[in-house]
Amino acid sequence: MFRKTSITLLAVTSLVFACREDGLIAERFIGAQSDASAEKKPVENPVASVADDAESDSNADTQPTLAVANDTAISQQEVPPAESPEQEAPPAGSPDQEVPQVPSGSFLPSITAITVTNSKGDAPRKGDALKITFSLKNDSPSAGEVTVFSNLSGLRFTDFNNVPLTDVKVKLEANSSHDVTFEVPVFLEDTAKKSRFALGRGNYELKTKLSYGSEVKASPKSTNFEIAEGKGVFALAMYDEKYFEVGDAKGADPEAWLKETFTRKGSIFYPESGTKQIFAGGFDEMMGIEHHIKAVGGLDSRNTKGVDIFDNPEAFATEYLNLNQKWAHGSGPSTNKHGYDYFIALDKDSFGGVTFGTAQVTGAGISGDFSKDRMQMLIVHESGHVFGSPHCDPIQGFIMCSGEKNKAYKADGEYIWHEDSFKKMKNLFK
Ligand SMILES: [Zn+2]
Repeated sequence: MFRKTSITLLAVTSLVFACREDGLIAERFIGAQSDASAEKKPVENPVASVADDAESDSNADTQPTLAVANDTAISQQEVPPAESPEQEAPPAGSPDQEVPQVPSGSFLPSITAITVTNSKGDAPRKGDALKITFSLKNDSPSAGEVTVFSNLSGLRFTDFNNVPLTDVKVKLEANSSHDVTFEVPVFLEDTAKKSRFALGRGNYELKTKLSYGSEVKASPKSTNFEIAEGKGVFALAMYDEKYFEVGDAKGADPEAWLKETFTRKGSIFYPESGTKQIFAGGFDEMMGIEHHIKAVGGLDSRNTKGVDIFDNPEAFATEYLNLNQKWAHGSGPSTNKHGYDYFIALDKDSFGGVTFGTAQVTGAGISGDFSKDRMQMLIVHESGHVFGSPHCDPIQGFIMCSGEKNKAYKADGEYIWHEDSFKKMKNLFK
């Protein structure tokens, strides 16, 4: 149990675990944790096709945030200064602004196709970065430069709307065609709105606009595509810097520390046969998942003003992601989390850990043991709860019930899971 505060539970939506050095303290209640958000708008075509979209969006003036991966014809557009919506003028070519006549024979670019795949060229799955290709042509004897604006909406999510992607400039020769390609990583940031997102499963709409000349914009284009189920699990990891000032965590890179935690060697013990199945890739390999960690410092684990241990990290996550509503630990992954699945809070001033639905808080150490093996065991134990495992007490010597007592752990730091624990876990975040 954390020594800072007691846990007050407000809603019967999930499973709560509080842990201490000898394992179980309390499982407060059990209820259904479900992904209650309905798919807003199922879209059948998994990989893009261009569609005319007469409906104009208003985000063409948002700032580019993502790196352009290739294509020497692309250059970053200059970033305009951030302005509040009340201050900004309508973007050139928007319905609010009169579009001047284009002189005959002048530069006339258009998008002929949009393709969205993963980096290998296949249909994207959760955990994949996207590769987006715009096929452009210029049906004019005049060369020119065009800027492609694009933004992304996740139709499965309630709060993933018009996230701006990289704006790219392309020079087109007279009567020519040209493809431009750029990558979109799994973690996105809208710097103008100070909002962060992750590319979860579901259907997406990609809108584009062209800007060329001084004031002219082409008709907008849009396409729909799907990110299918995949191995990716998106964890927001908030940490108190003091966590990385103690024991074997001292000086460690937070994302590398957590990546190591979920990929260090482990095994499942099958008591009936007395055998064990080894996973060199650790928890991730055992669960058939791949953690993607977004780590952010600045969590003040001394702040105990909240009503329970989750209040502080939930407020931090809400502000960092710029959520419309406070992160709700008992809710499913498609609601109010900007595509993130769950969070990990590394809390220096506490010990042990506690888990509730899509949130887990892990302290820096326990029983004065600040070894890497033990500190990382606390984290993976709490994530075991996130994925559905209760404690396996009174059995002892396994990750969900005092894994530090296992001989194999003592010998070489191997994390041993009891078969019963493994059977109760599943990837809730496909
Ligand atoms: Zn526990």
